[in-house]
Amino acid sequence: MNDLRHITSDELATFLVENGEKKFRLGQIEDWLWKKGAQNFDEMRNISTDLKKKLQGNFTFFNTQIETMVQSQDGTAKFIFLLHDGQRIEGVLIPTETRVTACISSQVGCALRCSFCATGTMGFIRNLHFTEIFDQFILMNRKSQELYNQTITNIVYMGMGEPLMNYENVMRSIDLLTSPKGQGLSPSRITLSTVGISMGIRRLADDGFKPDLALSLHCADEVKRRRLMPVTEHQTFEMLQDSLQYFHQKTGKRITIEYLLLKNWNDSVNDAKRLFHFCRPIPVKINLIEYNSTDSGFERSPEEHVRQFVDFLESKNLIVNIRHSRGQDIAAACGQLVKGK
Ligand code: SF4
Repeated sequence: MNDLRHITSDELATFLVENGEKKFRLGQIEDWLWKKGAQNFDEMRNISTDLKKKLQGNFTFFNTQIETMVQSQDGTAKFIFLLHDGQRIEGVLIPTETRVTACISSQVGCALRCSFCATGTMGFIRNLHFTEIFDQFILMNRKSQELYNQTITNIVYMGMGEPLMNYENVMRSIDLLTSPKGQGLSPSRITLSTVGISMGIRRLADDGFKPDLALSLHCADEVKRRRLMPVTEHQTFEMLQDSLQYFHQKTGKRITIEYLLLKNWNDSVNDAKRLFHFCRPIPVKINLIEYNSTDSGFERSPEEHVRQFVDFLESKNLIVNIRHSRGQDIAAACGQLVKGK
């Protein structure tokens, strides 16, 4: 039996007509699915019992459930979601005084095996369906109200998986999150983070992508970056820079460069110089991220290295933010997400 949410609006309309139902039922059902995030037929209170029976006889819900939730001392909450086929993914809620950011996953595992990342050790299992991406938001949004008395304000596609390797489902989920027929969030509250799949970045630009784009660069030395992120072997810096420039020209957006500072690996002033040269042709802002120890063998940069790195970039008039890690005690910070951990 098919998930009710996997059929198109036209297919649902046809089903309703063929079953002797009025047209306006389509809007009511879709309202339950995409505005209210219903995950079963019983929740649909204004739908007649007769119609519910017809729907139940033909469709089901492949539900996503929260299997566990752990909360960090700093308020960050990590969720393990159980999918309908028994696979697990993770999501994180990060509260601050003014916002709650949800970090969501786009794949079960990841094929790209970046050497600092715990998810990469799982390998690729499967893409998430857009409803499974949407479900993470709905479930965490309910929890956000319970935990912080606030709904989610921002979403980052920065959990498990590379979003541009699951392009269609990620775009469908963004549609549902931003459309007035769905959650109606502003696209500027959403950030898609990629390792830098050039073709995918160009495709985003051509498709009129409205959210923000972040590039997980982490190293501005091309040869060295390949050791950290093996996928970049097929993505030269020239291709990457061209695609980022193309994205900026088409969307007018400034790109966020994410840079994980690793002690004595990419945190010297020379590394900062390379980063400056990489960024020079593209309007960017730079987020420097503190590293959280996993079993990767890398260490966090000492404060002095960070200071010198920032000073150099600021002397070149680049916009630089330092991102302090959240949720480290529950393995919810960047690069720590892995199935069942
Ligand atoms: S950092 Fe992102 S792209 Fe790299 S292995 Fe981890 S999840 Fe995959």
